Amino acid sequence: KTVCVTGASGFIASWLVKLLLERGYTVRGTVRSPEKSKHLLQLPGASDHLKLVSADLLEQGSFDQAVEGCDGVFHTASPFFTKNVTDPQAQLIEPAVKGTLNVLASCAQARTKKVVLTSSVAAVAYTPKRKSTSVVDESWWSDSDYCQETKAWYNVSKTLAERAAWDFVKEKNLDMVVINPSMVLGPVLQGSKNTSNDIILDFLNGTAKTFPNLCIGWVGVKDVAMAHILAYESALATGRYICAERQLHYGDMVALLSKLYPTYPICAKVVDETVPTIPPHNLSSQKLRDLGLHLLPTEDVIHETVTNLKEWGLLD
Ligand code: NDP
Repeated sequence: KTVCVTGASGFIASWLVKLLLERGYTVRGTVRSPEKSKHLLQLPGASDHLKLVSADLLEQGSFDQAVEGCDGVFHTASPFFTKNVTDPQAQLIEPAVKGTLNVLASCAQARTKKVVLTSSVAAVAYTPKRKSTSVVDESWWSDSDYCQETKAWYNVSKTLAERAAWDFVKEKNLDMVVINPSMVLGPVLQGSKNTSNDIILDFLNGTAKTFPNLCIGWVGVKDVAMAHILAYESALATGRYICAERQLHYGDMVALLSKLYPTYPICAKVVDETVPTIPPHNLSSQKLRDLGLHLLPTEDVIHETVTNLKEWGLLD
């Protein structure tokens, strides 16, 4: 049982590698930097069953060697950040779209039996057709023109990348399932900061003075990693899988954090008018729950996140 995980050193992928090793898989993880990947080599089972391979999303053929001979490929690597975007095409869109097609081309060449792609709710729920009564499920697609107009560049990157992936696998007759997580929180294995946990960190340490006027889904990182594995292992798994334990407006997340951690200097009291708003919605993870995954409640995920931030010295 050999599988490849692209972007293995990332937040979600590190957990995916850990759980795959625990389940007896032999894993080839692609990474860009040996420095950022050291923690993977410390995972139980890594010395015998994990091999790290260097690969870059924008280098043609870069993944050929990593994917060759693997039964399955988990493609998680993609840039994830929303701040300091000065050149969206070069920073986000090209690595996401070209990178995905690059990995899938290697899979087609290697005749990979099954691919699991990490997409996002960013590719599902951001469309002006959304109403507050909408139940957003896997049949929904973000509108990339609308995302461009609102400068939601990360959402553009994920929407175009997932669309390109579906077109590619259809043409090449590859088996693919897609995981669409909402905002992912939880313990990091790699000890560095990451975009989604930073939201909680900035609220707790008082750096964030405002919050977006947005209602989004939240989910734990271990559940997202396990969703990838269940989707891979289940012969019945098909299409896309939204992963969200619940919906919370950012303002309600701030209120929840204030209730759970009354001693932290949380001061985000007003909405950030610069972030475009969109009506709240009900995000359905029913399809994922039907695969047998029980999602950890968001309070518990927050608790794990905070404990971990303290362990890494990122929070007092
Ligand atoms: P991380 O930033 O921790 O992981 C991103 C990974 O992609 C890293 O391993 C990074 O490598 C790799 N990567 C980025 N650019 C390149 C490149 N040019 N070539 C090779 N590798 C590259 O973020 P997450 O773990 O949170 O994200 C993983 C996936 O999950 C992404 O596809 C993201 O869009 C998706 N996702 C994340 C959510 C979240 O809330 N965290 C929500 C929904 C989806 P390196 O370590 O070298 O930087």
